[in-house]
Amino acid sequence: MPAEYTPRPNSRQWRGVLREYADRLDISDATPVITLGEGGTPLIPAAALSARTGANVFVKFEGMNPTGSFKDRGMTMAISKAVEHGAKAVICASTGNTSASAAAYATHAGIQAVVLVPEGKIAMGKLSQAIAHNAQLLQVQGNFDDCLEIARDLATNYPVHLVNSVNPDRIEGQKTAAFEVVEVLGDAPDFHIVPVGNAGNYTAYHRGYTEELKRGESTKQPRMFGFQAAGSAPLVLGHPVKNPDTIASAIRIGNPASWDLALNARADSDGYFGAIDDTHILEAHRILSAEVGIFVEPASAISVAGLLERSAAGVIPAGATVVLTVTGHGLKDPQWALRTADGSDVQPTIVPVDVKAIAEVLGLAAGAGA
Ligand SMILES: *Cc1c(COP(=O)(O)O)cnc(C)c1O
Repeated sequence: MPAEYTPRPNSRQWRGVLREYADRLDISDATPVITLGEGGTPLIPAAALSARTGANVFVKFEGMNPTGSFKDRGMTMAISKAVEHGAKAVICASTGNTSASAAAYATHAGIQAVVLVPEGKIAMGKLSQAIAHNAQLLQVQGNFDDCLEIARDLATNYPVHLVNSVNPDRIEGQKTAAFEVVEVLGDAPDFHIVPVGNAGNYTAYHRGYTEELKRGESTKQPRMFGFQAAGSAPLVLGHPVKNPDTIASAIRIGNPASWDLALNARADSDGYFGAIDDTHILEAHRILSAEVGIFVEPASAISVAGLLERSAAGVIPAGATVVLTVTGHGLKDPQWALRTADGSDVQPTIVPVDVKAIAEVLGLAAGAGA
């Protein structure tokens, strides 16, 4: 168990979602707070995206969480509850970020994490995190959907606690992101756009917004728009995809665990599921990093691609408030920044140790500095 401490309520340090939203989560005095300070992520106005669409666009940058993805919001809840119930080991299947998060929170709590990942299919940053945080990591010779089936089976028949988003504690923790958006904007946005893999996060935002509306904190239910990669778009197609394929490894999922919950959320919010091909995902990735200053992993960029696609389709009215969740940090899977639009490698310019030569390369004329 971590040392007990009580951060001063008015200190500027964010206290993590369990403490910040204690009254809105199913926890009690008996629940240990296993936190790395997740949540409280910035909602960043994206002038370049507003200019492109005529809407009022904000980016919820979930890469700013402790392990670099939104998974930490659900994991603080899932691991705290697991420890409350005496678990000594947790298990998850993962495309990478769940394993990184489970590993960090489990080790912080002093328990073991077991993670099942598809062999050769997860980004190096995420693999490094799980190993660094002392998880027992097994690369399964199958895809994510196979990993999840095995994890569920093991959790049913052996003494390990499942922390995938089929664990309801995960979605409960993740709904806090919607609370933060409403707090910052003073109301819910008109549209909220998220990447969709297992559809747990899509479901979580919808739940968070629904609770805000009920409490009178907001005046509307945002239309929930979820985007899947074209090669991995079961919710768009209406049936599972056997061999999901996309560069966006975090959403390479053929049979979403929260399928039914997500369909309900779509229906309730007048929502939408769309598919985006990898070329447009990478184009959006470049726009977000080069024009807005936010570096994300490819799966996260699909929110931006989805906005541009829906805007071009005439669905997003001028002046509408749109929040895009970008789910994971670019440093987890940085290789995509080093490719040009035509697919060739970016070659950094090499220069000698010579001011004049460098000024020439930069096209600077001699004169006083500004
Ligand atoms: C997990 C994850 C997703 C997908 O979230 P779901 O809740 O499975 O739909 C998207 N992007 C990133 C970076 C993720 O880690």
